[in-house]
Amino acid sequence: MRTKGYKKIFLDIASPNLCRANILLIYTGGTFGMEKGKDGTLIPFDFNKVLENIPVIKSFDLHISVIAFDEPIDSSDINPDYWSILVDIISREEAEHDGFVILHGTDTMAFTASALSYALLGLNKPVIITGAQLPVSVPRTDARENLITSLEIASSKNEQGEPIISEVCIFFNHHLIRGNRAQKVQSSKFDAFRSENYPALAEAGIEINYNHAGILSKSKGIERIHTPEWDTRVAIIKIFPGISREAVELTLKSPSIKGVILETFGAGNTMTARWFIECISEATKREVLILNVSQCLGGEVNQGMYAAGTLLEKAGVISGSDITLEAAITKLMFVLGQQKSYKNAINQMLTPICGELS
Ligand code: ASP
Repeated sequence: MRTKGYKKIFLDIASPNLCRANILLIYTGGTFGMEKGKDGTLIPFDFNKVLENIPVIKSFDLHISVIAFDEPIDSSDINPDYWSILVDIISREEAEHDGFVILHGTDTMAFTASALSYALLGLNKPVIITGAQLPVSVPRTDARENLITSLEIASSKNEQGEPIISEVCIFFNHHLIRGNRAQKVQSSKFDAFRSENYPALAEAGIEINYNHAGILSKSKGIERIHTPEWDTRVAIIKIFPGISREAVELTLKSPSIKGVILETFGAGNTMTARWFIECISEATKREVLILNVSQCLGGEVNQGMYAAGTLLEKAGVISGSDITLEAAITKLMFVLGQQKSYKNAINQMLTPICGELS
């Protein structure tokens, strides 16, 4: 099968009947499958080369089919169109597969994991996103271990034959974490991802130990959205001491901006200058949705804790609680994309969709 932008490859390992599970592996690119080009920079290579480097996956008791992007990308190039392609692939293939593994660059993996967690709500199957800090062809690579354990997790079932994981996760460096709680915190160590406000869902040692109490249970009665809309009329304002009025107004007064993440200090504080609070207030009156997300990786926004936060609350800013920036901006695009009423969009931003906030 060859569809616009991606192709399907079958690894004819064994008949699906003889296998423990049917897994779809989606290869998008990233360092995992890169090699040095002539000028020394890393560029993505074809999926067949990935296979050459991990021949062992052909001998698993899994039936694995692969969908590879025609042109693998550095994940810095990811955008909502790609998220829609991934949702489309998984929706078309969901009936034939027990689980999904996505190979993705680490730079924007937490954004993709968050976006997919909202868009795939109700899928109730494991979607494990992984990648690597070193290309698969490098002797000390982390790619092999990350992929092999991701395949294992995506195919793991409980005694009733149900998937152990039925949500979107990132598996990296021995840890399985909820996709919409993950943040890339390291560019040079193998331990690249953290979930500061939510415990890991599994740890892979000699055995894979699942944190059953922390895993989302199957969502019931959810109508799947097969073609999600993403509203990209959003922005992030990161507050810093000395931020200029011009910089703030440029974003908040722009008529084409519908939602803003205010990245604030500590428990959700900003400066209290009158021009700033008035600018915020004027924007929320025009129904610009403003969400307060802390610059701290751990802890939560509490707008009632300090006078500075209270002013924001009064100006119509809503609290992002303990959500990550990645989960917040993707949720904002997703919610504004589906939800046309300002009031409903606010309610959805305040309500956990799939474990992204406590
Ligand atoms: N720039 C790469 C990417 O995100 C980095 C990686 O994969 O680790 O695609």
